[in-house]
Amino acid sequence: MELVPELALLEQVVDKVRPLLGQGKVADYIPALANINPNKIGIAVTSIDGTTIGAGDYLEPFSIQSICKVFSLTLALTLYEEQDIWSRVGKEPSGQSFNSLVQVELEHGLPRNPFINAGALVIADLLQARLGAPKHRMLELIRGLSANPSLISDKVVATSEYDHSARNAAIAYLMKSFGNFNNDVDTVLQSYFHYCSIRMNCADLSKAILYLANKGTCLDGSRLLSPVQTRQMNALLATSGLYDGVGEFAYRVGMPGKSGVGGGIIAVIPGDMAVCVWSPELDSNGNSLAGIAALEDLCQKMGRSIF
Ligand code: GLN
Repeated sequence: MELVPELALLEQVVDKVRPLLGQGKVADYIPALANINPNKIGIAVTSIDGTTIGAGDYLEPFSIQSICKVFSLTLALTLYEEQDIWSRVGKEPSGQSFNSLVQVELEHGLPRNPFINAGALVIADLLQARLGAPKHRMLELIRGLSANPSLISDKVVATSEYDHSARNAAIAYLMKSFGNFNNDVDTVLQSYFHYCSIRMNCADLSKAILYLANKGTCLDGSRLLSPVQTRQMNALLATSGLYDGVGEFAYRVGMPGKSGVGGGIIAVIPGDMAVCVWSPELDSNGNSLAGIAALEDLCQKMGRSIF
């Protein structure tokens, strides 16, 4: 039997973590994110019967940032044979910051996993090679998954990312030097920033990732991934979804999840529910400080964990 929280419980979670606001630091690598109001906390849950409930600022849109890496890997899995993907990116936790070049160099151009920037850029390169209009296709996928046709990518954020893209460009060129990047770097970076800059709220995101809690079947009943692919995706999220904070996240929360520097975190309990939390202030690993605390409190209150 599936187990989902009551609305009152989500409200208690938000009240419990609200005192943490002010203890983290909003992402400041681009001006468009540095100016965000930090005093926000929202949570939404979609259960596998398709019902969504939320508390706090759960209807306020934010920049999904690295959460887009879940959707881009999913899209790649629908377009390529497994081997075409895993010959170009690994499946191991990184133990380095999300934008590190170190391991790309040490591993001869093979990124450790698809959720650090290096791996996500290889996936973006794969999408660029296979799709005529990858930006449009990604937006269409996410609009369909969340049943929200009005979703857009924020041009101001995407332009700001592009204006400060030296690190990501360096990662892409390093991989190109090892023969693991095929398309024009600039073109792929623009697509990647477009994906990162998509604006969604917690309700949209909890609906969009329902397939990860439901053996690959989406909110509208269509199948996006096979049950095996979904299990594999959740395994990668559980081992690499929160960068260098993934061990602590497993210890405190116990759900496969993915964070973004916009302050969002998505997480699932397979068979039960999909969750999204949002609070813009980050901890030292670049993960939402109050967001992790909210997921920890939710799991504790519900007595749930995948472990
Ligand atoms: N746009 C950011 C980057 O590529 C995304 C990073 C993140 O959310 N961790 O640097």
